Amino acid sequence: MNFESLGLDARILKALEEKGYTSPSPIQQQAIPVVLSGKDLMAAAQTGTGKTAGFTLPMLQNLLAGQGARNNQVRALVLTPTRELAQQVADNVSLYSKHLPLKSAVVYGGVKINPQMQKLRGGADVLVATPGRLLDLFQQNAIKLDRLEILVLDEADRMLDMGFIHDLKKIVALIPKKRQTLLFSATFSDPIKELAERFVNDPEEVSVSPANTKAATISHTVFEVDKPNKTKLLIHLVKQEGWRQVLVFSKTKHGANRIARMLNAKDITAAAIHGDKSQNARTKALADFKSGAVQVLVATDIAARGIDISQLPYVVNFDLPKVPEDYVHRIGRTGRAGETGHAVSFVTEEDIKELFAIERVIGELIERQVSAEFPPSAPLQASKLDTRPIKPKKPKKPKKPKTDQTQQPAASAKEGSAKPRSNKPSQRKPNPRNRSEGGAEGRDSKPRRSGTRPSANGGNSNQAKPKNHRSGQANKATENPAKPSRAPRKRVRPSTPKSDA
Ligand code: AMP
Repeated sequence: MNFESLGLDARILKALEEKGYTSPSPIQQQAIPVVLSGKDLMAAAQTGTGKTAGFTLPMLQNLLAGQGARNNQVRALVLTPTRELAQQVADNVSLYSKHLPLKSAVVYGGVKINPQMQKLRGGADVLVATPGRLLDLFQQNAIKLDRLEILVLDEADRMLDMGFIHDLKKIVALIPKKRQTLLFSATFSDPIKELAERFVNDPEEVSVSPANTKAATISHTVFEVDKPNKTKLLIHLVKQEGWRQVLVFSKTKHGANRIARMLNAKDITAAAIHGDKSQNARTKALADFKSGAVQVLVATDIAARGIDISQLPYVVNFDLPKVPEDYVHRIGRTGRAGETGHAVSFVTEEDIKELFAIERVIGELIERQVSAEFPPSAPLQASKLDTRPIKPKKPKKPKKPKTDQTQQPAASAKEGSAKPRSNKPSQRKPNPRNRSEGGAEGRDSKPRRSGTRPSANGGNSNQAKPKNHRSGQANKATENPAKPSRAPRKRVRPSTPKSDA
């Protein structure tokens, strides 16, 4: 099958040809005709399958039919759980639409809101956004959603895991009921089905990969090692095997910094990417890694979903993921779009149970290896595949929004922003909405001046005011977005809020 036979516009085909795509991937073959038909879609597709083009290409084509976006208007909205993924999707949208008369934009937290507001003045045919920043922009009258034609929920399972359900509900209350909705998720778990009942209308279902399956192009092994030797083993592997472009996953931000430091000390260029880094630093680290200026990128799980580097050859789980399902997402950073990749996991005596849990989830035993230079002091317990069915995990329950306006702000320790914001008593009123977004998209906009709240957007009855939408919401913070973290309680006096300018 080729892209022409899917009935795509010649200008889209030209962009695909320039990109070097010759044939549609299985998810594209299944999803594109459904989206072009105007029907709602529920697609089970993991990252790496080409799902982004699967929804973007037909979405662009559908948008060609209508009237271009006017001031502040958004015609198609793609919601993603993380900033990196938002940027990634937006890059794809720009690429595929480069010969089309369509405008696109991307917005996420952790960076200044004003340039985003300015960009949106002219409207966007496609807006890629993380949920929190989108609501901030709506509250500040920077976007109109009353004519939205298409809603895409990308990596919906991750959005639920990160506790975005309240934000999603609010967003859906702001957009027309009559629209096309496309929901992409790695799995069709029960919570996803529940979400679909609420958001999607009589959808076609397509599925390209069973849940928790690694791509066939990825080989993976486990290195048994003692904890104190992990860094030495990593340095040894990178040097001895001549590995270029290695993505290393660390359990903690501190650990990521330490690993990067130790690698640099051994003349291996390395950078760390995690939520204590500013968004600019995160973007730079990723760009340097992509360009090859940095050989090793050490990331916390925040990076698991947003990194798409063609031909990324190696992934190292320096620490195993806390959630076994994340193993597949992590190693899915390599072996993308049919390329081969290799994933290596370091396992110590302490985390052998985590290995068993991963093997249970993926339904296979992972081959073990021992380095001749850094063998473990004692052999680790052998694996035995646990074939009992796994209960689907419940998504994180978001905290109920509190109505109390005087609620203290949520913790500022966030995965998503560089530094905790200072809540200067004289300048800021308590902003219960100023919470972290799971490291994915910490909102940093400031409260609006009273009296400038947007009217219920163009009188559309489907749209509700997102009043206090962040009040007392969960602080999805630090390394585990699903885990709320506590705010240091600070006394703050209400005062006139500053603008972001
Ligand atoms: P995704 O699953 O959307 O993150 O895409 C994974 C990778 O596959 C990205 O690097 C895309 O650029 C690439 N890709 C998507 N569609 C195709 C295609 N039809 N042929 C070759 N590569 C593709």
